[in-house]
Amino acid sequence: MLFRDLADVYERLDATTSRLEMADILASFFKGAEPLDLRRSIYLTQGQLYPDYYPQKLGMADKLLIKTLASVTGTKEQTVQEAQLKEGDLGSVASHLYETKRQTTLFSEPLTLSRVYTALEKVSTSEGGGSQDSKMKQLADILHDASAVEAKYICRMVTGKMRLGVASMTVIDALSIAFATKEERDVIERAFNVTSDLGMVGETLSRGGLEGVRSLHVQVGNPIRAMLAERMSSPAEILERMGGGCAFEYKYDGVRVQAHIEANGVKLFSRRLEELTGQFPDVVAAIKASFTAKSAIVEGECVPIDINTGEFLPFQEVSHRRGRKHGLSEAVEEYPVRFCLFDLLFLDGKDMTDETILKRRAALSSSFRTTDQLKLSEMRVLDNEDAVQSFFMEAIRDGCEGLMAKSIGPDSVYRAGSRGFLWIKYKKEYRSELNDTVDLVVVGAFAGRGKRKGFYGALLMATYNEAEDRFETVSKLGSGFDDAELAEMLKTLEQHRIADRHHQVSSNMQADYWFEPAVVLEVLGAEITVSPIHTAAFGTVKKDGGLAIRFPRFTGKVRTDKGPREATTSTELLNMYRQQLKKIEE
Ligand code: ATP
Repeated sequence: MLFRDLADVYERLDATTSRLEMADILASFFKGAEPLDLRRSIYLTQGQLYPDYYPQKLGMADKLLIKTLASVTGTKEQTVQEAQLKEGDLGSVASHLYETKRQTTLFSEPLTLSRVYTALEKVSTSEGGGSQDSKMKQLADILHDASAVEAKYICRMVTGKMRLGVASMTVIDALSIAFATKEERDVIERAFNVTSDLGMVGETLSRGGLEGVRSLHVQVGNPIRAMLAERMSSPAEILERMGGGCAFEYKYDGVRVQAHIEANGVKLFSRRLEELTGQFPDVVAAIKASFTAKSAIVEGECVPIDINTGEFLPFQEVSHRRGRKHGLSEAVEEYPVRFCLFDLLFLDGKDMTDETILKRRAALSSSFRTTDQLKLSEMRVLDNEDAVQSFFMEAIRDGCEGLMAKSIGPDSVYRAGSRGFLWIKYKKEYRSELNDTVDLVVVGAFAGRGKRKGFYGALLMATYNEAEDRFETVSKLGSGFDDAELAEMLKTLEQHRIADRHHQVSSNMQADYWFEPAVVLEVLGAEITVSPIHTAAFGTVKKDGGLAIRFPRFTGKVRTDKGPREATTSTELLNMYRQQLKKIEE
């Protein structure tokens, strides 16, 4: 396939913000693509070369790309740099340079998708001495034969900034339009949820049709998309929803980890499917020492513990290990963790996700030996409010956040990748309607004044609207940051700066700076109100108003474990608002 065809698709995707239209554009492209090209184009459309869980990421430094562009187009580096300052995006800069500067050379050969992909692979994997030269050489080789439009997307890909806003659910829509019926979409989504590899699902679909996709199963080594919980604010509501009784577990406050265990090793993945194996060598060793099963996939929460008292420590202590290469062994010693296991998804060759929770738990408990570092989550099956309340108090006393209620009915399977009422979280913050945390996405910022001059004065925060794949503003966040956090925030956000409001952000406010939705912050809100300015859940409570969070405060927790689409949703906020109202009325 010619790369030009894919670049044309990107031009069309770039020109629309409608999810339906995006799915249609992709579907007609998918129909005509060879299986391997289809697979690769799915990754590339999402700004990747491989599925999410592969460690190799595209992300060439701007500086290196500027150098390469300057040399390929015969322009001064400084000119390219200045154009970038003006336009913000090196893809557009490249496209303009090609239009004005570059003559097609006699020796240029049309680019194929396979050639571009292979070159990008080499760029992403070359490391060590001389790697910069080799990256530039690989890139120059394809840029040499590129047209203006092709160069635009190659530059966006190689810097990891595709920003087409094509969510996985849109790709799934497109695949089902191209290869299945509307009713069969679930089969494709399920395959994605258990393999976390949309490219592989696409390739399988185009080679073997829906039957092929049906045969994709849970496999050790392929992370499974996490099952998520809904929230409710009282034991009475939870028990009613669960049909009178259910299992309650401690809700540990740590890092969710999915462990893939085989004879030849253990791999750990985060809730966002990043590999965490390197960060938790102690957990890997503990699993190796106490698992008796030959192969298994288990899930649990890694919680920091105080080795002197045996008590859990705040979540922040475990975040000291994140992204740490040096001093990891000190961090392991200083902040040891306990892996509290709550689920089993695969055991000795058998997919366990369709078993009920009590069966999964029974199998889990006999698959390892309990140690100080490896324990089964505390669980009780309860059917009355008082018992739940006292278990809740025990959980809080033991340093947990609250309880997780889990349905134990015949349908209590593991629903990969979905949030539903089979699991319901009940946290301590819910006891006061004015004291709850939400995870919000930074979409814009306002210039600082006075002491904050040169920094951002306040950030424009948004919730995620799943149905429309958009980010809706809920508040201006200015408090809770200390000076160091403010400086750090400036650096982090700079990487996501864009010239204008992102096309998936709904805002009636004009911010001074705009960002692509990427950074998620935990925010403690005092109150949810209806606001004419904010756009979250707009029109649901009041015809001409959205929801706003009043008196928001940054808790200090940057949710690096959450992507923007995993932030609190507008629907969740709406439910919280309604629950609050109910309490006030009572
Ligand atoms: P979510 O994961 O639902 O988007 P979140 O990351 O903000 O939300 P919470 O709302 O606090 O986290 O609750 C869900 C998380 O609780 C799970 O993803 C898991 O990491 C953690 N957890 C702790 N204990 C348990 C348990 N016993 N069973 C399931 N999850 C648990």
